[in-house]
Amino acid sequence: MTTDGFGFTPGAFLDGALGRSGVIHTPHGDIRTPAFIAVGTKATVKAVLPETVSELGAQAVLANAYHLYLQPGSDIVDAAGGLGAFMNWPGPSFTDSGGFQVMSLGVGFKKVLAMDATGLANDDVIAEGKNRLAHVDDDGVTFTSHLNGDRHRFTPEVSMRIQHELGADIMFAFDECTTLMNTRGYQESSLARTQAWAARCLDAHAQLTRERVGKPYQALFGVVQGAQFEDLRRKAARDLAELEVDGTRFDGFGIGGALEKENLGTIVGWVNSELPVDKPRHLLGISEPDDLFAAVAAGADTFDCVMPSRVARNAAIYSLDGRFNVNTARSRRDFGALDPDCDCYTCANYSRAYLHHLFKAKEMLGATLATIHNERFTVRLVDQIRESIESGDFHAFRGEFLGRFYGGRTRTAP
Ligand SMILES: [Zn+2]
Repeated sequence: MTTDGFGFTPGAFLDGALGRSGVIHTPHGDIRTPAFIAVGTKATVKAVLPETVSELGAQAVLANAYHLYLQPGSDIVDAAGGLGAFMNWPGPSFTDSGGFQVMSLGVGFKKVLAMDATGLANDDVIAEGKNRLAHVDDDGVTFTSHLNGDRHRFTPEVSMRIQHELGADIMFAFDECTTLMNTRGYQESSLARTQAWAARCLDAHAQLTRERVGKPYQALFGVVQGAQFEDLRRKAARDLAELEVDGTRFDGFGIGGALEKENLGTIVGWVNSELPVDKPRHLLGISEPDDLFAAVAAGADTFDCVMPSRVARNAAIYSLDGRFNVNTARSRRDFGALDPDCDCYTCANYSRAYLHHLFKAKEMLGATLATIHNERFTVRLVDQIRESIESGDFHAFRGEFLGRFYGGRTRTAP
């Protein structure tokens, strides 16, 4: 551990592979990795108490700089004592830079994962017919608030200031997110811009760390982009790993942007084989079981995704036998648990029939109970993946789990 309270200690490694277990040390506690990080975009994991998030085993939460900047304002969170104090979450926390949300306003993309890029390679396709709400230039991004139409501008310096005010243990550098639909030429110029922004983030971060004396140390992760191009991904990873500004380097790395589902493990592997082994790596935005196994095998340590809680609010339930919808007729008279093998609060106390009723009656408790279950399912799966690395059973566990979860069916789309 470094003297400022942040560090990473690798544990066991998969044979001949990049996958590993480990511990991320933060001023608000340790995170045993691999770990699934619960998403609390607006300083709340939707529909559940922070105490419940802790009880279901989540070790850390991730909030979003864009949303909290617009509402309530990062100055309010700062005055409250930072994100953890504001939302009553005493454990480790992350904020993402807001880059993805801001860029999404411009191009209208909803998902960067699992997109089929076949036949699509046109920088204009994504914006065609859309009223662009964001414009990227070399200095930053100007965008229109999705809340009230006000104009705002994010730059690397603005994102760093916001994230320092939010006060999470782990922050991400402000980067440009591209999609698989952007051309190779655009990806190259975008990467150059992201690299320049990374240096400005490190500079602003070093300055803010000096200014804000007495605050717990906040770690900064650089974000590796490069879409599906091996040479671009590898170069981006090397460049960020070597980047040093004013004696400051990145404390860890995020792997961002467009990843084709079929190549996820391959792309994450390119990046992680270039990154230093003694720094943590976060993969942004995945939670499907096959993606989690692939990413862990390729050396990713932490993950976040809105999907388990988002689909829960629409009655979609994860179980060891796959994902199902509890509001269909099949569950109406089923007095068994959502998943008989689950150890969560919902499965210990409530039936499929009761959740079916809550969703049909549009009762809020349905979302709460389903969220508890889906978050626990995902957190526990990643915990079991970690244990399987440490006991040397990763490959057997992967085969057994995925064989049952997907069970010969075609994979459930996220
Ligand atoms: Zn459960």
